[in-house]
Amino acid sequence: MSFRATVLTLFPEMFPGPLGHSLAGRALESGIWTLDCVNIRNFGLGRHRAVDDTPFGGGAGMVMRPDVIDAAIASVRDERQLIALTPRGAPLTQARVRDLAAGGGAILLCGRYEGFDQRVLDANGAEEISVGDYVLSGGEIAALALLDAAIRLLPGVMGAADSAAEESFAEPLLEYPHFTRPAEWRGRAVPETLLSGHHQAVADWRRAEAETITRARRPDLWARYIASQPARP
Ligand code: SAM
Repeated sequence: MSFRATVLTLFPEMFPGPLGHSLAGRALESGIWTLDCVNIRNFGLGRHRAVDDTPFGGGAGMVMRPDVIDAAIASVRDERQLIALTPRGAPLTQARVRDLAAGGGAILLCGRYEGFDQRVLDANGAEEISVGDYVLSGGEIAALALLDAAIRLLPGVMGAADSAAEESFAEPLLEYPHFTRPAEWRGRAVPETLLSGHHQAVADWRRAEAETITRARRPDLWARYIASQPARP
């Protein structure tokens, strides 16, 4: 069964965008996943199909109206998870991406302006997800990032069955560095162990590098990794 993505957006022309190419594009063509975009503007009010209004309490910007967003959600709602892309949502993790990819799909709600009236997210039990601690101008790029991360994990999308298992965040470690030919480039040699042909030595080297880089760059992941390791006697 296909992974079904439905995107609610004011800019449906932004999709599939980059997801129409490469791995995701081929998977879309072959039906591994499907994409429907719904223009929120279709549910706008009045002659100008207004989707937003000024914020109660004052302040700059416009807020997406709950009645408009609710009607857009109701037009596609089914058993799939409803995800609202918001900067104040839970940070997206590889673990959440894996869960999503294992499910039947998702309905993704993309904001614009100052974002959504909170009531429509609460009333619909929307899961709020952020793609990072920065503010994009709209939820579309966030939705594309989330979909890209999930689609590449769908069965049949990636070439080597195990290529997802070893990469960053498959376990809470950043990935070890990669090297390819030439073995020496601008005076920089590939680490000798990688040329040795000893599988165990290569595996040990990669793990040690992954640990070193995680410890140096991401103390948060390092702490989780240490906590996940069995206690050594
Ligand atoms: N006023 C909002 C705030 O400060 O949290 C920012 C709104 S932003 C300009 C407009 C829309 O972009 C949001 O409603 C959301 O859909 C999307 N967006 C922006 N940054 C995002 C992020 N880091 N993760 C997910 N969605 C984001």
